[in-house]
Amino acid sequence: MHYGPAMHEVATLLRDAKHVVVFTGAGISAESGVPTYRSGSDGLWSRQNMERYANPRGYQRHLDDAYAWYRARAKGVSEVEPNAGHHAIARLETLVDRCDVITQNVDNLHFRAGSRGTIELHGSLREFRCDGCGFRVGWESAPDSPRCACGDVIRPGVVMFEEMLPEAAFSAARDAAVECDVLISVGTSNQVWPARELPALAQASGAAVVIVNPDLTEQPEGRGVHQIAGLAGVVLPALLQMAWP
Ligand code: NAD
Ligand code: ZN
Repeated sequence: MHYGPAMHEVATLLRDAKHVVVFTGAGISAESGVPTYRSGSDGLWSRQNMERYANPRGYQRHLDDAYAWYRARAKGVSEVEPNAGHHAIARLETLVDRCDVITQNVDNLHFRAGSRGTIELHGSLREFRCDGCGFRVGWESAPDSPRCACGDVIRPGVVMFEEMLPEAAFSAARDAAVECDVLISVGTSNQVWPARELPALAQASGAAVVIVNPDLTEQPEGRGVHQIAGLAGVVLPALLQMAWP
């Protein structure tokens, strides 16, 4: 396997780091069989369904179908397994003094790989809730009807388009990006806010920024940025192996 000198440089950076941030997007779960937003190969995650269900108005308007769609996605991600990339990240947490995992994913795969305390910027499909009365329930036990006894509706615990990011989570993510020595961005296009902001904050604060993605088009570059073209499930275990042989 050959990735050029970036691999060795990054392995050294990791071994010497006191504080690492791992920032992940849909690509980290691609090798588990969860389609990325861009792959568009999955009927569940089609543009039509996104427009229909993935914003608050659409959710209300198509309530029964939208609720069923989210429950099907929750079931879908529960039926796949974390991959070598998720496992490498959970192991990295045990190898450096401080390691913060920040994800845009809602699939719970970091948790299932053993990561704890992951900052979930877009919430999770793990839980459904009612904002009217504060009812919360695991996806498996979510009632058949989305109409809550209190008169409001039951909804997935994810951040929909047009909704705010959870304030505390995003603020913790920004602090981590500013304070870390190394930020590794894995499987995200880094195009859309907030994904664009976190690597930029780390870079501006003097941290090394590592990009792991098979497609490096329009990824951050410049001072302190190390790009590694490859799959998360291959590159991350290889980096750990080099840093801690
Ligand atoms: P994206 O779909 O825009 O981009 C995915 C990125 O992953 C691309 O840059 C692609 O080149 C890269 N990639 C594909 N396979 C990879 C692999 N094996 N290893 C490493 N990288 C790989 O995803 P995004 O940037 O995360 O943004 C899309 C939005 O969609 C996010 O907000 C996210 O919450 C949501 N989403 C989440 C999930 C999930 O929870 N698993 C799935 C789809 C979309
Ligand atoms: Zn309620």
